Amino acid sequence: MNRRPPARLLAVSKTKPAEAVAALATLGQRAFGENYVLEGVAKAQALAALGLEWHLIGHLQSNKCREAAETFDWVQSLDREKLIAPLNRFRPESRPRLNVLIQVNVDGEASKSGCEPADVAALADAVAAAPRLQLRGVMAIPEPSPDFGRRRDAFQRVRAIYEAMRTQHPGVDTLSMGMSEDYLLAVEEGATMVRVGSLLFGKRG
Ligand SMILES: *Cc1c(COP(=O)(O)O)cnc(C)c1O
Repeated sequence: MNRRPPARLLAVSKTKPAEAVAALATLGQRAFGENYVLEGVAKAQALAALGLEWHLIGHLQSNKCREAAETFDWVQSLDREKLIAPLNRFRPESRPRLNVLIQVNVDGEASKSGCEPADVAALADAVAAAPRLQLRGVMAIPEPSPDFGRRRDAFQRVRAIYEAMRTQHPGVDTLSMGMSEDYLLAVEEGATMVRVGSLLFGKRG
């Protein structure tokens, strides 16, 4: 018997218009993911009346921390120390803390986004010490290998990093991994949140 709660679905709406987000929201979907800060800000503003939850899942430049901290509910792509102080400083007092996942790169040279596994613990400690940020867990985008055995190995490495974080920070509850092609495999390997775009919205042009 699997007694874990079901994984949450993050609908990845990058490149899709606000109307497509609104249509999915009428079916009950609340959480949406965007890769680019300004594109996400525009959609979040256009759809503010719907009270949706916005996640930044793309690379965050330090000069976009202010917009990210003001608009998003979650930043899943925190991968370096430099982002922590500005996100904390710019998070408005009027909003709840900004939820943060540490993005980790478990494929070494094959991928450039995400921090080294060895750097996760220090980053997690620094996020946990920031009063306007809430450390929630780990995000990863393993290399899209055609070999699903390799993908499973990568998910298992991410899971181990997440479990290690949980022993240090017991409030951590989110393991974000798996996309349209491999979300079922990710859930089997312990994902608590899957990020699905093309399967929901159709192929991106
Ligand atoms: C685009 C993207 C997704 C969704 O990808 P699909 O293959 O369309 O499901 C998930 N996570 C991240 C970080 C992405 O950039």
